[in-house]
Amino acid sequence: MESADAIIIGAGVGGLSAAAHLARAGRKVIVLEQDSHIGGTAHVFKRGGFIFPTGPQSITVPEYIADSLCELGVEKRLSFLRDRFQVLRGSMDIMISQPLDQLAEQLLENFPEERKGIHFVIKVLEEVITALDVLQPHDLIEQAPGCITDSTACAVLEKWGSFPALDLLDRHLKDQSLKDLLGSQGTSKTEMPVVLLAQMWRFMSRLGIWYVKEGIEAIPLLLSERLRSIGGDIRLGERVERIIVQDGAVTGVELARGTKIKARYVISDADYRETIEELLPPDAFPGNEREVISRMQLTSSAFTVFLGVKRDLVDLSAFRGDHLFVKLKEGKPVPWEIKKAVTEDFLQDEIWLSWWSRHEPALAPPECEALIIKVGAPFDMFAPFSGGGRGLHHERYYSLKEELADALVEAAANILPGLPGAVVVREVATPLTYKYWGHRSVGSVAGWSWRSGEQPKPWARSLIATKVPGLLMVGLQSFTRLFYGGMGTSMYSGKYASDIVLEKMK
Ligand SMILES: Cc1cc2nc3c(=O)[nH]c(=O)nc-3n(C[C@H](O)[C@H](O)[C@H](O)COP(=O)(O)OP(=O)(O)OC[C@H]3O[C@@H](n4cnc5c(N)ncnc54)[C@H](O)[C@@H]3O)c2cc1C
Repeated sequence: MESADAIIIGAGVGGLSAAAHLARAGRKVIVLEQDSHIGGTAHVFKRGGFIFPTGPQSITVPEYIADSLCELGVEKRLSFLRDRFQVLRGSMDIMISQPLDQLAEQLLENFPEERKGIHFVIKVLEEVITALDVLQPHDLIEQAPGCITDSTACAVLEKWGSFPALDLLDRHLKDQSLKDLLGSQGTSKTEMPVVLLAQMWRFMSRLGIWYVKEGIEAIPLLLSERLRSIGGDIRLGERVERIIVQDGAVTGVELARGTKIKARYVISDADYRETIEELLPPDAFPGNEREVISRMQLTSSAFTVFLGVKRDLVDLSAFRGDHLFVKLKEGKPVPWEIKKAVTEDFLQDEIWLSWWSRHEPALAPPECEALIIKVGAPFDMFAPFSGGGRGLHHERYYSLKEELADALVEAAANILPGLPGAVVVREVATPLTYKYWGHRSVGSVAGWSWRSGEQPKPWARSLIATKVPGLLMVGLQSFTRLFYGGMGTSMYSGKYASDIVLEKMK
């Protein structure tokens, strides 16, 4: 039987990062990827000359990602472009990707009567951001040895760690659009604790959110090239059906056609729940731990429309940057349980419009632009249409998603006049797409829930080392918090997991 030091399930950023670190240390690694492409959710797809991202549109901590690639021996140095974000709601039109003092100035112009509250909330955010600046993001991991070195910073994080941002905003501000903007960087009600919110503002206003100039898929592609160049083996189209456990410890994996490969370590970049509930034998994971994982809440899913448009036929002048969050009508969003495929029902949603090809003209053919429109959407509303796999869903699903996309595009035309008539290419992704193409439980797009009740502590917990000897997890869900953003945390998880394996192999 074939054998390796470590099997990696999945060629996403987390899996490739783990594999590259191990291969660099001279270990024999095999990456098994069920899809026919590298990169997992960081893959891009092409339609009629347009290039769209399946998942991430931008990253945080570019220097960490660039340095990690360099540490692995990747010679190419990536370049990054700062993304600009804007919130538009009624008469409020604010650029939010700016230093907090400049944001405060814009807010004071819009809400002069809220001066005291704005100053107070910004002061709290700055206090927490200053505390976060003292610590390296990985110092925020609960299990890191001696993680907290600065007691003042630690005290600030402890103080605000379990404090719901909603309470802070409700106490000090009156206007709902102002509360939503400061609480969610958009037009939705906040659900986060203050520390998480401050972390988001630290990225948005200070460190920046960045587009990868060479393309978002360049990160996994560079990782895979480097891995192959140092002897790592990546096999595409190979689905792991089962993780083999003998006498309580991992001994290898079984592939779709029954082939087995032996390994002392299996590192899974697959969805956390799926790894525990479907790939492991039912008795391998301690009962209560299995239950704890299945009860942990994930972030919600999304409904996304990818558009290729003729530039002359649509007015994009509302964009002052690359991303625009808009709420077209005041009031609570129409719940998805009763939402119909009509424009009216999307007006109260937070609609995220991205002018994707503004970063790079090559993302669209000449005289065209690539746009992305997104709204949050719960998996449960699409689950009844699921047929259990790609292309297998109920017939009504395929017509419904197009009708919903028509309505959303019409709604967006309030901001981008001419949009419906300008479309030459359209693709629609629903929570079922994020589950069956993105391979994430309930189509979740941003890891574990960010809600304050579920994240009561300021520290991220590592879920990398599991209760099953030899099984480690990497990727988006391997930490309870995305302290380096999605891709950065996945990259970091690969290093973290490989360090554990190399230490044990010594
Ligand atoms: C819609 C969406 C938007 C996002 N936006 C951002 C963003 O703006 N910024 C950001 O930093 N991050 C974002 N993320 C997160 C980001 O995509 C990930 O953090 C990052 O790409 C790394 O992912 P990962 O390592 O968790 O693996 P994934 O990308 O999830 O890849 C896992 C791989 O494992 C494979 N796999 C699963 N099961 C098996 C099996 N049984 N056998 C073989 N192979 C298997 C899958 O096919 C897949 O290729 C987004 C994600 C999504 C889905």
